[in-house]
Amino acid sequence: MIRVEHLSKQFGELTVLRDVNAEIKKGEVISIIGPSGTGKSTFLRCLNLLEMPSGGRIFIDGADILDKSADVPKLRQKMGMVFQSFNLFAHLTALENLTIGPVKLLGRSKEQAEKKAMELLKMVGVAEKAGSFPDELSGGQKQRVAIARCLAMEPEIILFDEPTSALDPTMVSEVLAVIRRLAKKGMTMAIVTHEMDFARDVSNRVFYMDEGIIYEEGPPQQIFESPQKEKTRVFINRVR
Ligand code: ATP
Ligand code: MG
Repeated sequence: MIRVEHLSKQFGELTVLRDVNAEIKKGEVISIIGPSGTGKSTFLRCLNLLEMPSGGRIFIDGADILDKSADVPKLRQKMGMVFQSFNLFAHLTALENLTIGPVKLLGRSKEQAEKKAMELLKMVGVAEKAGSFPDELSGGQKQRVAIARCLAMEPEIILFDEPTSALDPTMVSEVLAVIRRLAKKGMTMAIVTHEMDFARDVSNRVFYMDEGIIYEEGPPQQIFESPQKEKTRVFINRVR
């Protein structure tokens, strides 16, 4: 579904991504871990061109998104993104946050969009908050609305950048439960996270990022129980 070849990204003099090679297959759940500042967010942002790569190639379903002829808006629509800071539209209710995209970008009728939105709000457990504005919601509720809004656009893959880092500990589990449910349903996801127990049991593969590359990758059991490289081992021991 996504193939990344020799991806690099510099910010001025600073090389953040040196040579990232990766493949994410349909239905896979990938956790991305690693020390702060190693380019995990930059990597996700490059995948949907929120950040312009300096070099390399990114293929989505075989189409090179950096090719001049690529239909970037369409390719981007295949990828939902959920941020640490929710990024809900503050002036819209939870329901309206979910319907605006499908109505404006997918050409759905208001009725269709609202029906689907209510189903999704129910799925993430906040149906009773449909009429509330973001600042009337708890952090966990906001993030669940943000995930539902993402799903309303019918993405083929969801990129999560530390979806629970801004939440009080009591709200982390309700958001992780939603992501677990999506994993069970076969949603393709890439999740930057510091929740190691979650990463261990939800993901098919784990990418450990360091030194501008995917320094080590493997099934969670390998990365968490028997990392092959010293740096991975040091990191895992430190966060455990
Ligand atoms: P964290 O775990 O703290 O979120 P990260 O692995 O997500 O870290 P990035 O946010 O990708 O790291 O940042 C990697 C490096 O790139 C950092 O040194 C950061 O300061 C730098 N950086 C990120 N975005 C920009 C930007 N727009 N302009 C300049 N430097 C940037
Ligand atoms: Mg980050």
